[in-house]
Amino acid sequence: MSIQISGVSRRYGNHQALADIDLRIESGELVALLGPSGCGKTTLLRIIAGLEQPDTGTLELEGQDVVDRHVRERGIGFVFQHYALFRHMSVYENVAFGLRVRPRKQRLVEAEIKRRVHELLELVQLDWLADRYPPQLSGGQRQRIALARALAVEPRVLLLDEPFGALDANVRRDLRRWLVRLHDELHVTSVFVTHDQEEAMEVADRIVVMNAGRIEQYERPEVVYERPASAFVSRFLGDVNFFHGRILDGALHTEAFGLRPHEAAEQPSDGAIQAHVRPHEMVLHRNPRESSQLLKARVKRVRPLGAEVRIELAADDHERPVQAVVPRQQFIEQRYEVGEIVFVEPTQIHVFADRAGFAARSIAPDA
Ligand code: ADP
Ligand code: MG
Repeated sequence: MSIQISGVSRRYGNHQALADIDLRIESGELVALLGPSGCGKTTLLRIIAGLEQPDTGTLELEGQDVVDRHVRERGIGFVFQHYALFRHMSVYENVAFGLRVRPRKQRLVEAEIKRRVHELLELVQLDWLADRYPPQLSGGQRQRIALARALAVEPRVLLLDEPFGALDANVRRDLRRWLVRLHDELHVTSVFVTHDQEEAMEVADRIVVMNAGRIEQYERPEVVYERPASAFVSRFLGDVNFFHGRILDGALHTEAFGLRPHEAAEQPSDGAIQAHVRPHEMVLHRNPRESSQLLKARVKRVRPLGAEVRIELAADDHERPVQAVVPRQQFIEQRYEVGEIVFVEPTQIHVFADRAGFAARSIAPDA
């Protein structure tokens, strides 16, 4: 079931929670709403569900305008962060609940309900817990039961609001991988809210990056990461080294890397910019090179991070530390020592205007 949101705005008092949101989600997609706390993710989810009305705008499910349609008629399943299961009902009864409260005409006979509940419990791989009560379950098990309960009524759309937010990091990671496999099986159109960029990257077909009630970018994970549409997206999606700079006569000039040729065609000939370079886009050299501008820096700290090693550097003419991440194998071969001098070269610079209306651009300087 496709979801089409057009011109949706929502205000609380004088706070604009959502401002003119346009968003299309294709049938069977798993889309993540990603953004900092308070940016409007839950409000948008509640509007899709029908728990909240937009001030303006339209919402269509599979081409049908549903703004006036009641929550129960929208065919939507929910999982929330603290979706309290009914404590005094067994796991079995929790999952059966949605089937039992259906209008009499659509209600299944008891044998059918039983078959369906066990099928769902098998789907979430917890059939062996059918007779337990929610307080006897782990957090991860509870969220899987909540998901089984949401799926019981065969929703056309599944909405998940930070479903794994309260769980330990390891459990979260397992559950989100499990959710992706489940989605591959069921293909139910799903909207997944999270403030964790890694979670969004791992789970979603496409990511909606939100900021202050607006959509900053809506793209596949690799595009959002490789070609962020704004400085906000770039910073939100992971560590960046940040440099001030200008574009002058078609050349990019940053505080750290001096002048380099810059394709000025789509950009003003002169303007203040910020340049972002991700830690893994920094290459370290032991010797200065003539051909390119390098930043001279001293190794301050070395931190192993599994498959990679993070190297913190201090440059004389740059007040903030510069972060570089190199593959572990390279680190083992090069053996960078704390205190030694290295020369840092960016392989990719993401350029953003310091003012609005200036297109973002990612450039590979030596390409
Ligand atoms: P998120 O889920 O991204 O953290 P929300 O959608 O919950 O953000 O909230 C967006 C903004 O709207 C926040 O500033 C929040 O305080 C405000 N807000 C949300 N719901 C209400 C409400 N019922 N009354 C007043 N303000 C609200
Ligand atoms: Mg929220």
